[in-house]
Amino acid sequence: MIWSPKYETMPRKDLERLQLERLKAQVARLNEKVPFYRQAFLDKGITPASIRSLADVARLPFTAKHDFRDNYPFGLLAVPHDEVVRIHASSGTTGKPVVAPYTSGDIEMWTEVMARTLTSAGMSKMDIMQNAYGYGLFTGGLGFHYGGERVGAAVIPTSTGNTKRQLMLIQDLGTTVITCTPNYALIIAETALEIGLDLKSTRLRLGVLGAEPWSERMRAEIEAKLPIKAIDIYGLTEIVGPGVSVECPHQCGMHIFEDHFLAEIVDPRTGEQLPYGEKGELVLTTLTKEALPVIRFRTKDITSLDPSPCKCGRTLVRMSKVTGRTDDMLIVRGINVFPSQIESVLLEVEGVEPHYQIIVDREHHLDELEIWVEVSEAVFSDEMRKLESLEKRVRKELESVLGISPRIKLVEPKSLARTEGKAKRVIDRREL
Ligand SMILES: [Zn+2]
Repeated sequence: MIWSPKYETMPRKDLERLQLERLKAQVARLNEKVPFYRQAFLDKGITPASIRSLADVARLPFTAKHDFRDNYPFGLLAVPHDEVVRIHASSGTTGKPVVAPYTSGDIEMWTEVMARTLTSAGMSKMDIMQNAYGYGLFTGGLGFHYGGERVGAAVIPTSTGNTKRQLMLIQDLGTTVITCTPNYALIIAETALEIGLDLKSTRLRLGVLGAEPWSERMRAEIEAKLPIKAIDIYGLTEIVGPGVSVECPHQCGMHIFEDHFLAEIVDPRTGEQLPYGEKGELVLTTLTKEALPVIRFRTKDITSLDPSPCKCGRTLVRMSKVTGRTDDMLIVRGINVFPSQIESVLLEVEGVEPHYQIIVDREHHLDELEIWVEVSEAVFSDEMRKLESLEKRVRKELESVLGISPRIKLVEPKSLARTEGKAKRVIDRREL
């Protein structure tokens, strides 16, 4: 099924005409409303009138994650404050989150692309959708919630966690679709096994999974343990949240909703645009966002684009599974973690050295974050009780910044390897 055939199956020529029209309007509006973009256009010698073809997008300036930080919280806002009806946020590189305001028009567009997403995944109004994405500042919960209701399905807003209760509801309410992170899907399967519930005896049949990287191998594992077809989705707070792209039943890449999001692939080193089929960094421009339009956002996600016709009938370009990142960001339990965040916390705590190692592992399908921290000579020779309270303090400080609780292991002074060049701070033992 296709939710919005008019846009999802539009001949590419017409789609590109629509994209150009919307891009021009977007550039004109940003030039008028957002000083950051006015200056960036000026620096590049761009006037709204100089955007004449879609190829001109390559002349526009990039927006990077640090631009959100530099303009925190509302410097990139393109509408008056009274038009903002919702504010979401995601974690940022220095503890300050990326703030994403939405107008009612933005919420409408987001709901529409989420309705397309869930329909493409194979959901309909006959379904009962248990939404185990986290509700709150994170865009997953409410994004799926509104999309599910728009499709007409019955939405159960369980949010994440409390897995035994999730299982009870799957059984009692006849849940057919589970929406959650891929890892949480595995935790559900494992917990079902523990309590002796055969998920095959339930009505569960479909999973719409995302918000963290997962491999084809992981998909096979999920589909072997849960009675679901596992559909991959892609999205990010800076652009809209979930709803940027989704697989169709043919599972040959994720269709990007190009009437709202203009996609390019660039060489991560040079920033030069790369042709279809080549692997590089995904760059996205929002074409219809009102509160927080973004020009050429560097996602840092590595993928490639394929515009060839798809058997499903959609004409929208497909992006391949994201295979890596251009930076050192880690995604742990769906949360963005930067080694630089950890470093800045450690620098604030007296008694520890800014020498650390981050170990990420996956135990029972749950990501575990362990941080080894060197303590100073003075502290190390001190009594045990003091070390314990230091450990507790480091954990608490990190927890408040990262949003997850890492395990802390205090180690002897000078015990962590020193390197001349870029330190290898992260050991990721997960097989993604
Ligand atoms: Zn398709």
